[in-house]
Amino acid sequence: MNIDNLIANVIRADIRADSAYVVPDASGYIKLDAMENPYALPEALRQELATRLADAVLNRYPVASYATLKQKVSAKLGIPAGYGVLLGNGSDELIQIVTTTVASQERRAVVLAPVPAFVMYARSAQFAGADFVGVPLKADFSLDLDAMLAAIAEHKPAVVFLAYPNNPTGNLFATDEVEAILRALGETGIAVLDEAYQPFARRTFMDRLGEFENLVVMRTVSKLGLAGIRLGYMTAAPKLLAEFEKVRPPYNVNVLTQVAAEFVLDHVEVLDAQAASINAERERLAVELAALPGVEVFPSAANFISLRVPDAAGVCAKLLSGKVLIKNLSKMHPSLANCIRVTVSTPEENSAFLNGLKAALASKQAAT
Ligand code: PMP
Repeated sequence: MNIDNLIANVIRADIRADSAYVVPDASGYIKLDAMENPYALPEALRQELATRLADAVLNRYPVASYATLKQKVSAKLGIPAGYGVLLGNGSDELIQIVTTTVASQERRAVVLAPVPAFVMYARSAQFAGADFVGVPLKADFSLDLDAMLAAIAEHKPAVVFLAYPNNPTGNLFATDEVEAILRALGETGIAVLDEAYQPFARRTFMDRLGEFENLVVMRTVSKLGLAGIRLGYMTAAPKLLAEFEKVRPPYNVNVLTQVAAEFVLDHVEVLDAQAASINAERERLAVELAALPGVEVFPSAANFISLRVPDAAGVCAKLLSGKVLIKNLSKMHPSLANCIRVTVSTPEENSAFLNGLKAALASKQAAT
């Protein structure tokens, strides 16, 4: 048998043409490419967590209702009274659940997002068999509201994803423009406000759910300091959430995640304090970056900063040679030419990045 023939016969053409989502191996590097919280839990909490995990019931499936974890998420992470939560294996899975719920063979649904956006919106739409429409942001990365409204009128998207703040640009979209999109969608489409970076932005549409029945608010504990356990959550009008719930795989959140999240959320103030110090570092980093010649810094409400440099590929290569890993955004979208994204980390790691960047910029200047 020829395996290539088998693949050609069995695997979808668009998947065959695609390449897998690449995550670089970061061992030995200062890892500033994935918006992780650099801080570990304090030792005392780690010890107590170890005891809880040792008691986890691994031979049984998780309790299917996830009632305790949902209550904890609701109480500690600000879900309004009267609204339920749907849990995901990271918010990546929630994005997949949303796109799968709206797309079908009979009705080719449209998923729309301003671009550049988080890449999983387009990928999940494609995998679900939906059409993805990207509407370019303005040059300053604010929403192009006229273009968004025109695209909504033309394509009648079932879902609009709005990352709030946006990844990879870091900015918050204007509240009145998000409201205009929710109103324009009305009964024909939902807007998913992806608040992955809410621990840093401290802004939310959670309190607007009563006003907009087509609003879904999605979040994750990843950026807060728990990226390793893979837990996302979302909420919406109960009837709408119940439809998404039908698509969720029954035991999608594993027992170890459940136990760890229930425990750590009881100490969420520890993670909030870490987020606050990351925010303070973001401000320091932004000021220092803005002072560098040839560097354009974009305002960020998240735990990362995007900036434009004279030669993004050169800067990334130089940083990599100094064992600092950041993200080159240049190929993601034309508006991101020569842009790079750096996760805000500890003061020491941020300084390592700054020094590496300064050296890269200096060697570039010397070369020209
Ligand atoms: N949404 C946005 C805007 C993101 O940037 C990310 C991660 N980079 C995610 C969702 C996915 O987060 P997770 O799957 O870790 O919950």
